[in-house]
Amino acid sequence: RIGPVVDELGERFAAAGEELALVGGPVRDAMLGRLQQDLDLTTSARPETTERLVAGWADAVWDIGRAYGTIGCRKGDWTVEITTYRSEAYDPDSRKPEVVYGDSLAGDLGRRDFTINSMALTLPDRGFEDPYGGIVDLAHRTLRTPGTPEQSFSDDPLRMMRAARFSAQLGFEVAPEVLAAMSDMAERITIVSAERVRDELVKTVMAPDPVRGLRVLVETGLAAHVLPELPALALERDEHHRHKDVYEHTLTVLEQSIDLEDRLPAAGEGGGPDFVARFAALMHDVGKPRTRRFLADGSVTFHHHDVVGAKLTRKRMQALRFSRDQTEAVATLVELHLRFHGYGSGEWTDSAVRRYVRDAGPLLPWLHVLTRADCTTRNQRKAERLRRTYDELEDRIERLSEEEELASIRPDLDGNQIMRLLGL
Ligand code: ATP
Ligand code: MG
Repeated sequence: RIGPVVDELGERFAAAGEELALVGGPVRDAMLGRLQQDLDLTTSARPETTERLVAGWADAVWDIGRAYGTIGCRKGDWTVEITTYRSEAYDPDSRKPEVVYGDSLAGDLGRRDFTINSMALTLPDRGFEDPYGGIVDLAHRTLRTPGTPEQSFSDDPLRMMRAARFSAQLGFEVAPEVLAAMSDMAERITIVSAERVRDELVKTVMAPDPVRGLRVLVETGLAAHVLPELPALALERDEHHRHKDVYEHTLTVLEQSIDLEDRLPAAGEGGGPDFVARFAALMHDVGKPRTRRFLADGSVTFHHHDVVGAKLTRKRMQALRFSRDQTEAVATLVELHLRFHGYGSGEWTDSAVRRYVRDAGPLLPWLHVLTRADCTTRNQRKAERLRRTYDELEDRIERLSEEEELASIRPDLDGNQIMRLLGL
């Protein structure tokens, strides 16, 4: 399927005396039998030349970032990004990689993050270039760097986050020497901009096996810098199930909530519904260590761990430059997730149910998912009872809203907006 598209492009570039090669993600994914619609290519041509060469061929052309040497275009169903050969170095004190154009495919492949991303298909001859043995590492399902991991991570520390991300996306092992370098150099991640770190974290959390990637982040010490609330949970034991620490519990809740994702509204309504659910699962108990410490030193506090957790969540997501909407959604879920525990002990009055619905607002389906996921990690009998109780609560919410048209009595403003208006 891909043949005609890349052959046509290859001919055009060759006629102009320029080299062109399919590279990175699409080559890797094609080898894994799952070619996507996004094609990444690398070329000897400078961006101005690339723009001219694709102009008469593509359905649409755009400039992704001339500063980074990338021109994007669309041809039929294919999205194509063509980047000029690069050989950038990372200034240890700068927060952005400095882009330096390279003059050879070999040089371009050598500065890539992992060997499985350093394979290329030259065009139009369809020659397979794999100078770092990516195909072998792909067969062994291993992430390895083309050069030494120390040099690679010193050139761009973000690659350490990318190791965790690809292990979560592909289910690959990170090679032992790469893990060792990550452990030694974890602190270097602090020179990378919060936005770049966030984007890799989001891809890790949204991957098919986020727990694998998160364990890599925690075990190498990277998480201590980018998401310290997560490793802090490993020190805590939950009173309900002493045999498991809160860290393991959290990873299980994340997996359970992924299983419940089909209960959420489809993507597109408000953007990233699954991310909010997954990140809320990850953060739901982060208030626990903090609360314990307050109690251990004897100080009296009125903070419950859900309130502390919401506060820590908000702070972390702001530091990682998440949008205000995503931050508020996740923090609200963290804050509300414990309220259901009070439901089991006694019957809720109608007004308690109404308050639950009102406080959750549009997040109610997410709250259902988080609370249910949290319940399933208890012992079988208890989990089953909680699940039935939750079914019952959801039924009751439905009945209540039908009978009393709950939606119509809900204020136009939500609690957060009211607090903002009142300056509270
Ligand atoms: P996907 O797009 O499916 O998430 P990908 O492999 O295409 O996966 P991108 O982030 O789009 O990942 O990067 C494209 C290619 O550019 C990678 O395959 C890799 O070769 C290279 N690359 C991207 N970021 C870096 C980096 N920080 N350091 C080195 N190489 C990188
Ligand atoms: Mg890509």
